[in-house]
Amino acid sequence: MSGGGSASAFAAVRWLWGELDRAATTWLVGGAVRDGLLGIAPGDWDLATALEPPRVLALLRGRGWPLDTRGARFGRVGVHTRAGVVDVVTFRAEGDYADQRHPGRVRWVRRGEVDLRRRDFTVNALALTRQGRVVDVVGGRRDLEARRLATVGPAAERIREDPLRAWRAVRFLAYAPGDWNWDPALAAAVAAAAEAARAVAPSRVGRELAALMDRPYPSRALRAAGAAGLLPPWPPERRLCRLPDAALRWAAVEAVWGWPGLVTRIGLPRAVVREVARLRGALAGDARSPALPERVACLAEWLGQPPPVPLPITGRDVMERLGIPPGPAVGAALRRARAWVAAQPRPPDREAVLAYLARTGAEPLDE
Ligand code: ATP
Ligand code: MG
Repeated sequence: MSGGGSASAFAAVRWLWGELDRAATTWLVGGAVRDGLLGIAPGDWDLATALEPPRVLALLRGRGWPLDTRGARFGRVGVHTRAGVVDVVTFRAEGDYADQRHPGRVRWVRRGEVDLRRRDFTVNALALTRQGRVVDVVGGRRDLEARRLATVGPAAERIREDPLRAWRAVRFLAYAPGDWNWDPALAAAVAAAAEAARAVAPSRVGRELAALMDRPYPSRALRAAGAAGLLPPWPPERRLCRLPDAALRWAAVEAVWGWPGLVTRIGLPRAVVREVARLRGALAGDARSPALPERVACLAEWLGQPPPVPLPITGRDVMERLGIPPGPAVGAALRRARAWVAAQPRPPDREAVLAYLARTGAEPLDE
């Protein structure tokens, strides 16, 4: 469900929407309606329909849209359009959350209003008809105006039945425009569900964290997650909004928490993981890291560190050249090399640094 917010993207969605709505009631739902009412470009498009999955498939097959049918059994058909993958989800009533991941039973319903009531937050339970009418059965518009995040129905129950919603609640605090706040009942419910939320599969959590890191105010969200016990505490003075993109922000998060590899653990997109690894390496002084110096300097400055001195050698080089085993002496030699490199008028190459270490290697490594 990723995709563009351009006019031509919306035209593609409108066309698909029209085809479905001609057959049975089909609404635009979720983030696209919320973001549209806030006047910002939607991140993705979700359609909800009275058509049951076999009818959705019958209607869309052979129309030139590649379909993702893996979720069809659960009422979800992905349609590849110019606007990215649009999810077409059949209206349902959900109860009984058996394993907190797949609702115990899914029952298709004809009325969209029923479907809106099973959604997580009031601002996410808004729908738009093809004729342009906003459907609001749970006071979502009022909450949207007030930037108030509140569950549909009793907070404790709704968070308990699916603790992923605690992470989703965290995510929306990073959103703009305006200053989003949790309804007090939601705040209490998130804190009460902290243990269950921490047990949610890392990849599912990662999806929500990835979404918040792209938004304007990630540190607000991390602070709330820390205070609620979902994540380690986040220092109040650390403001990620000053870093321009998600990879720099994640590299900063790893450094602040001292948690290298966090991005891999939560399954972030490969491009982000790769760039964070480059930044991590460069920050530690690895001269072979292809991270752009400007980005590394930006990150170092944010962390309040001097820009790293890139070292054209590794610990392995030190062990080979000085003939020493792994251990603290290797780190000490690297530190000595870094101090020497920093003092040179222009960056010495690998050979020069190794020659320096070999030359002074007989001296006791006594820092
Ligand atoms: P974004 O714009 O960031 O994608 P979104 O609200 O559209 O935000 P999605 O993950 O795309 O988020 O979900 C689409 C909609 O599905 C939500 O707006 C919400 O109505 C519903 N939803 C998603 N996850 C849950 C959940 N765990 N419990 C209940 N409803 C959910
Ligand atoms: Mg969405």
